Amino acid sequence: MDPDQFHILGQASGPGIPLHSERSGTAPRISSILIKPASAICNLDCGYCFYLDRDLDPYTDLPQRRMSDETLDRLVDSYLFYSYPNSTFAFQGGEPTLAGLPFFEKLVRLQETKGRNGQSVSNALQTNGVLLDDNWGQLFHQYNFLIGLSLDGPEGINDKYRYNKEGHGTHKWVIRGMEALQRNKVDFNILCVVSQANVDKPRELYNYYKSLGVDNIQYIPLAEFGGPSKGLPFSITAEQYGRFLVETFDLWWPERRKMRIRFFDNMAEAIAGQKPGSCTMHETCDSYAVVEYNGDVFPCDFFVESGWKLGNIMLDSWPEIARRNRRYRFAEKKTLAHPECQVCEYQSICHGGCPKFRHGPNGKFEDLDYFCQSYKMIFARAVGPLQDELTKLMGKQVTMPGRHSISPY
Ligand code: SF4
Ligand code: SF4
Repeated sequence: MDPDQFHILGQASGPGIPLHSERSGTAPRISSILIKPASAICNLDCGYCFYLDRDLDPYTDLPQRRMSDETLDRLVDSYLFYSYPNSTFAFQGGEPTLAGLPFFEKLVRLQETKGRNGQSVSNALQTNGVLLDDNWGQLFHQYNFLIGLSLDGPEGINDKYRYNKEGHGTHKWVIRGMEALQRNKVDFNILCVVSQANVDKPRELYNYYKSLGVDNIQYIPLAEFGGPSKGLPFSITAEQYGRFLVETFDLWWPERRKMRIRFFDNMAEAIAGQKPGSCTMHETCDSYAVVEYNGDVFPCDFFVESGWKLGNIMLDSWPEIARRNRRYRFAEKKTLAHPECQVCEYQSICHGGCPKFRHGPNGKFEDLDYFCQSYKMIFARAVGPLQDELTKLMGKQVTMPGRHSISPY
């Protein structure tokens, strides 16, 4: 389905551009890839998950989706060549461990045999954790995988929305998986979805993760909609998320050298004038690409829809994919600044937030990010202390970068 037919996420914008039209010149590099070896298929049935049953899922009629050896081989070979000397492979789902341990053993063997001298390869994987054991832990340790493990808090909170297909809560299995990671000294962070189950409990969450020995957390706000601007019951409000971030910042600040919280790290990076790790604070949406199980490529995990398909790695080279007109069209959506963003004092670090969250009454890319109020609340609280801290650390005055007003395209 074409993105022009979006109800909630997209914008009506005229006829689609043919898939194979390209721009000339140097295209912005695809600096990492997010691979979905089992597509959106998952062994759980979390109450808030948006991946399955989406109207716009291009593979709806294909319940069995696994990346083949041939596709994996082509992916590793072509991407190592394109991305030399620094190559980042990130795996996500659905649930990527459903591809099986042999799939990942093959991945690292291919990386070893096809990589060139001096090439640095990083692997990361996001998982619900329920299949993890010592065999996975050993592989992840041996090859320095960075793991993102989904856990929304203590059992009573986590199990409110994170359950399997029989309706059983997942907490005990996630903890078992986490312990396998800890036993095998695997580098991991916690991915915590901030929903109505936990948005009013930032202190409880923070202390719980600390008690597990966790020192790296990524909070992911939940806003899914049943229609334009109509939040589903687990969705949080912008004000709730703003309060959550501010309280979490105050808990974290005295311990900032021991604990990492991705949103605050990203803010510090943006204030220091670096490119933040998270794409939501980038100027445009072109930093990564999603590779589906069959080799189809898309510009963002939230927009795996036929209308945004950029190509297929079995048919197209990475430079060709990077130059596709559709990639530019998608990338510049983030630059369609809402009038409020155009006068916002935080525009140079926020860049209008994430197009996925522009769920205004019209569901258009030009709308204001649903979490704008949250961003303003946390920026007002945190920019000052972060600037002072960075000034001390860097030995020179650090202030927010100036406003960007011109689209790079
Ligand atoms: S739409 Fe949001 S998640 Fe997707 S690339 Fe843009 S900022 Fe990132
Ligand atoms: S804080 Fe709000 S107004 Fe400011 S740039 Fe971000 S989304 Fe736009």
